[in-house]
Amino acid sequence: MTFSSSLQHELSLLTLWLIFMLVIGSFFGIAMTAVFVGLLGYVVWHLYNLNRLVNWLNKPSNNTPEATGIWDDAFFQLHNQYKRQRGSRKRLTKILKQFQKSTKALPYATIVLNSNNEIEWFNPASKILFGLRSGLDVGQRIDNLIRQPEFIKYLNGNNFKKPLEFDNQNQKLLLNVTSYGQGQYLLSARDITQRIKLDEMRRDFISNASHELRTPITVMSGYIETLQNNCDEINKYPVDKIYQQTIRMEKIIAELIELAKLETSSFIGTNVQIDTIALLNEVYNEAVSLDQGSHDITIEIEPIKINGSYEEIRTAISNLLTNAVRYTPDNGFIKLTTSTDSTGSYIHVEDNGDGIGYEHISRLTERFYRVDEGRSREKGGTGLGLAIVKQILDRHGAVLQIESEINKGTVFSCYFPFT
Ligand code: ADP
Repeated sequence: MTFSSSLQHELSLLTLWLIFMLVIGSFFGIAMTAVFVGLLGYVVWHLYNLNRLVNWLNKPSNNTPEATGIWDDAFFQLHNQYKRQRGSRKRLTKILKQFQKSTKALPYATIVLNSNNEIEWFNPASKILFGLRSGLDVGQRIDNLIRQPEFIKYLNGNNFKKPLEFDNQNQKLLLNVTSYGQGQYLLSARDITQRIKLDEMRRDFISNASHELRTPITVMSGYIETLQNNCDEINKYPVDKIYQQTIRMEKIIAELIELAKLETSSFIGTNVQIDTIALLNEVYNEAVSLDQGSHDITIEIEPIKINGSYEEIRTAISNLLTNAVRYTPDNGFIKLTTSTDSTGSYIHVEDNGDGIGYEHISRLTERFYRVDEGRSREKGGTGLGLAIVKQILDRHGAVLQIESEINKGTVFSCYFPFT
């Protein structure tokens, strides 16, 4: 056991004090009584200081009681601690005030919930979005105030990786939940009604325009075909070019309609298991017959677990194989394979063709994005193939992964995570 220097000092003082009392007492012939009185006085002095300490602790302030000996040291240490605590409390209050001020100004509804889903705090935007009332709704369970079944299921599901889009009083809301501390949640929601409406308008416009264009272009290509058969040598070249372009336009329109259909139609669900062996053999045979021996196309597959739409996945893999054929020089190889790891299943389409520069990869699935417009046109591309693949994979909760090296080749992998 180590004694602090102030305790050692205190013990020396006590010894001196008792010796002093002993000397005085011996002088009057009452040595032991004097020592006893000295000890009693010493205890009373400690009790007095203890009382002052308790009073100060009950109402701490900057003025600590004046004291001597070990008590002076104790009061000094407590005073320092008090000052430090006050400093950090002030800093925390300032941060909290700043946080509240900024969340008050946020256009997003922000709500703090405790582990029982009871509201602890909310900002003014929550009053507008959810009709919460200050004073009244703090302490209430949020599922008693926002009674949307989707919202309640999401909140109780405890899986907040993806945000939730749900309807609330004629509004479309996007909700994010972040858990923090011990079972506390921060909810943030915003109104996306306008954005959804604009998206719908854009989709409707593209879908309507494509449908409107389909008939005149089909009529035109019919007439051009007739013209092709009956025109003289001088006009043959321009008529052939017009025919090629109308065929291209027909293809673009068909793919735009396909995209619009994928965006607007509801998904049939992910509980239908796909016969992947049949599907992959089907697209493989189709690619081999279209390729007519220009490439070495191989297939190495094992059954993998994928749920969803057979037709849609068939379209996606067929688009990837068509691209591989298109962008791989003759005699190159193309491989269709499958694999599985602990997280999900994969379908890979690999080629040793042109490859794609790193800077293009993140944009490949955008509509009409091409690495080389001339080359894509020349090969009969529309710039929509990978956009369709992405849309289909999104609907299946799957992801398109692309690895590529210029002049070495590309691997497109469709990753279907296990749910
Ligand atoms: P496109 O109809 O032009 O092929 P896609 O959306 O299918 O449009 O593909 C977008 C672009 O990605 C293509 O223009 C092409 O440059 C590139 N690409 C796609 N697949 C491959 C591939 N297997 N190898 C090299 N480039 C590819």
